[in-house]
Amino acid sequence: MSKIFQIAIDGPSGAGKSTIAKRVAAELAIDYIDTGAMYRAVGLKMLRLGIPMEENETLFEMLANTDVDFSEGRVYLDGEDVSNLIRTQEVSKAASDCSAFATVRRKLVELQQAMGKRKSVIMDGRDIGTVVLKDAEYKFYLTATAEERAMRRFKELQAKGSTDTYEKVLEDVNKRDYNDMHRDVDPLRQAEDAVLIDSTNMSIEEVVDFVIEAVTGEDIRK
Ligand code: C5P
Repeated sequence: MSKIFQIAIDGPSGAGKSTIAKRVAAELAIDYIDTGAMYRAVGLKMLRLGIPMEENETLFEMLANTDVDFSEGRVYLDGEDVSNLIRTQEVSKAASDCSAFATVRRKLVELQQAMGKRKSVIMDGRDIGTVVLKDAEYKFYLTATAEERAMRRFKELQAKGSTDTYEKVLEDVNKRDYNDMHRDVDPLRQAEDAVLIDSTNMSIEEVVDFVIEAVTGEDIRK
């Protein structure tokens, strides 16, 4: 496959988009762009500068002087590697809040579209197939039941020593789904031409194989 092509993966939180996208990117030797990391980077900058979570002049000015980029799987905010700093609960919340602002979305969508033009990419997020890469050759909508996604997240958190209960994690998953699907600007929805993958009863390998087969036309399990 020598032609430049784009793969879009959308879906709710905890469906496994980034795990799958990373694996597919490695198998196909293309770039992976984690658009959630970009919203997280903007959220981090707002927290650091103490910018209130509202769309006002200060936010516009900050965005005009903000650069978010990727290099070798790391995310850079104004040249600083913030890959680890953006994974806290506080930044998750800031990312979710600022992702509802039209100005933030416009800025990041523009950057994402420029990244998608340069080379073959697999991009994951909430609005990739519907807004960012509307003409992507391959589109997938990856989901799983809220209970299954909450269970996966619960196990991850437990392994990290968290004391959050399963019920609390499920409540968070449902809240994030609601926010993603009901915001005014570019809400999460399945693009009409996206292939639905329900991973509730699928392993990571099965989903990766399914995507690769859809893209290359080859059954890699043969
Ligand atoms: O995917 P991740 O959880 O890292 O995304 C962080 C936040 O950014 C989420 O709350 C999600 O709503 C938002 N987001 C978005 N559009 C994208 C990617 C992420 O609104 N394309």
